[in-house]
Amino acid sequence: MYILSHLLVSPNVTRVNCDKNRTPLVAPDTIVMHYTGGGDARSSALYLADPATKASAYVVVARDGQIFQLVPFDKRAWHAGASALAGREHVNAFSIGIELANAGRLIRRDDRWFTWFGHEIPQAEVYVFLGKEGPTYWHAYTPLQLRVAARICQLLARRYPISRLVGHSDITARKQDPGPAFPWNAFRKMVGDLNGKEKTDILK
Ligand SMILES: [Zn+2]
Repeated sequence: MYILSHLLVSPNVTRVNCDKNRTPLVAPDTIVMHYTGGGDARSSALYLADPATKASAYVVVARDGQIFQLVPFDKRAWHAGASALAGREHVNAFSIGIELANAGRLIRRDDRWFTWFGHEIPQAEVYVFLGKEGPTYWHAYTPLQLRVAARICQLLARRYPISRLVGHSDITARKQDPGPAFPWNAFRKMVGDLNGKEKTDILK
């Protein structure tokens, strides 16, 4: 996989037409990780590309490692919403967002788990988070999906001046993604060094 003309090139990348984002993105320095909070990657990609949807994304990574790219990396996408990072507002203006197909927080009924939209999730895909309010249940990411996302981050850091990797919940109190099931330490290790900044300047 590589980046050509601000697009990922690989047999497992599918382009999805999304021409509502036309404002240039210049010198992005941050990657924002998200979960879709939805069903499969294709349906989320089509929803985000819809001209009527007031949100978009650069890429959606499926649970099987397939990638859907909607917006080229030299245009601003609408992934962050109202947001701020280290005193800078409008994170969309300096970041690239990566969406992972994942249903987010799950609802437990007896010993079964369901997404907010009513799909049952097998127990093997349930991540239990022990917080102050007791256990909560989240859709686990797949190892392949995380590896593919980490590879995308590496390619982005090589091509653009990326020096920060954060979650959507780090830049706005409105959002919980990528949530407690996202393995930050392992993911950062897979991605490796980013550009030019001291390690202390990298959040988390
Ligand atoms: Zn998000």
